[in-house]
Amino acid sequence: MILHEIDTPLTKLTRKIGKQNAQRAWRRSFLAVHALAARTRELGIRSEFIARDSIYLSGNILNATGLEREHDARLTAGLNATYLSRGETAARFGINRPSLVSYGSFEANPRELTAGYLKAAIARGVKLYAPTDIIKVEAGAHIVHAFTKDGATISCRHLVFATGYEVPLGVPARKYKIASTYALATAPQPRRLWPERVLIWEASEPYLYLRTTHDGRVIVGGDDEEISDSKQRDALLPDKISAIRRKMRKLLPQLNTKPEFQWTGFFGTTETGLPLIGEVPGMKNCWAILGYGGNGTTYIRIAAEIIRTKLTGGTDPDADLYSFPDK
Ligand SMILES: Cc1cc2nc3c(=O)[nH]c(=O)nc-3n(C[C@H](O)[C@H](O)[C@H](O)COP(=O)(O)OP(=O)(O)OC[C@H]3O[C@@H](n4cnc5c(N)ncnc54)[C@H](O)[C@@H]3O)c2cc1C
Repeated sequence: MILHEIDTPLTKLTRKIGKQNAQRAWRRSFLAVHALAARTRELGIRSEFIARDSIYLSGNILNATGLEREHDARLTAGLNATYLSRGETAARFGINRPSLVSYGSFEANPRELTAGYLKAAIARGVKLYAPTDIIKVEAGAHIVHAFTKDGATISCRHLVFATGYEVPLGVPARKYKIASTYALATAPQPRRLWPERVLIWEASEPYLYLRTTHDGRVIVGGDDEEISDSKQRDALLPDKISAIRRKMRKLLPQLNTKPEFQWTGFFGTTETGLPLIGEVPGMKNCWAILGYGGNGTTYIRIAAEIIRTKLTGGTDPDADLYSFPDK
């Protein structure tokens, strides 16, 4: 799901970082998914990348009134959305909950998308080494050295830690939380899918999300838990998959919930739900991207824009929204 809607509702983010900053963050995410879509088309990367509207269902974070307020806040920020009552959502999507319809998000096959970008980078001269473990980084005034587990050294002017949810050595990660998330994919069931095949997620914590795939499978996930130990995380998989199936059945009873694939992974979040992007305090010429929450793809694009702009001598107008706090 390549949602421009970020995990923290605009109304809630406004309370955390102020109206102007919250509007900037929401608008920047909208721009980011469209920039990613444009770049993907420009590079001719075929990855089942298609535009999808989304519905955001009422839940324990925003009830019907909260969703109406969220709707108004988004319109004020220039982001179009439509509030649907319980009856209207049921008539249009077959789901018995009030909702907010949003326009201009996307879905893609993440594996093909990633492979496509890596191939494009390699064609432009990037050298890719995998698997390679970086075990130590030394940041000097003008040069950064990264040491691999096999004894090699990579020397560069700038280093970007794009290590996903793993916090790199030396990077301050205050207020950064690791959680575990669970998901399943059903067998293809194109005739049972919901109208418009919109992306579905909930204003709940933890939230459930659903999307369809190119070949008519349903991918559904969520039921996040604050667990940062991989054994504990994996042991919970059967129970979590059962819980997800129950929720899925309740939401859309026509679906076949039997998993053909199931998986779990870590993800990291920050207090505001916004990622940390920027130069690492105390590590000159080292850059990091941390804490994407559920919007990894959206935030990776923003990170690429901010870091590229900085490295080429410019200033990104939104860099301050995401920068690391000083030590
Ligand atoms: C179950 C699940 C569902 C998700 N669903 C969505 C979704 O629908 N939409 C969305 O936008 N996001 C989603 N996310 C988040 C998204 O998948 C991630 O944000 C995204 O994959 C991060 O991409 P990345 O390239 O930054 O990091 P990764 O894809 O995690 O890649 C980081 C790489 O760095 C390597 N690495 C780490 N440390 C070192 C080291 N010391 N030395 C060398 N290499 C190292 C790792 O091995 C890895 O290959 C989901 C995440 C999970 C777990």
